[in-house]
Amino acid sequence: MTQIAELLAANRNYAAARAAVAGAHPGRHLAIVTCMDARIDTFAVLGLHLGDAHVIRNAGGRVTLDVQRSLALSCHVLGVDTVVVMQHTKCGLLGVTDLELHDLTGADLGFLGFDDHSAALHEDIEVLTNTPYLHPLKVIAGFVYEVDTGAITDVVRWERPE
Ligand SMILES: [Zn+2]
Repeated sequence: MTQIAELLAANRNYAAARAAVAGAHPGRHLAIVTCMDARIDTFAVLGLHLGDAHVIRNAGGRVTLDVQRSLALSCHVLGVDTVVVMQHTKCGLLGVTDLELHDLTGADLGFLGFDDHSAALHEDIEVLTNTPYLHPLKVIAGFVYEVDTGAITDVVRWERPE
């Protein structure tokens, strides 16, 4: 079976037994920003269930303009007040430069590679807290997920001053 046919066949089983969620508002008022890495089962890692949270994924789990765009809707339209930015060990963006990734991909982009999780998380959280339209956000946390053990390190926490 081809890849695509396999996906469609799996969906027929899924649709027959799916869990339904009533509304689009995340039940836990939560959004997770994380890497696209195939080793991260975001819901399982954090004890979440369908309907609990928005999950915004990209290479590195970095805060980009498109993450800000999504979070603008999360917090103004869909009731999100808490964001977790979750990077992970052994990330493909760890220790690489834009020049190396440009050579590898042919894409002349800012890839947001990083050398240090703590510095990158602080930087991303600073971007979120300095984005005026994200003022409904009350709590932002920065985590690192350890792909070898499944454990999370709680690296940084921000709460909006009263
Ligand atoms: Zn990654």
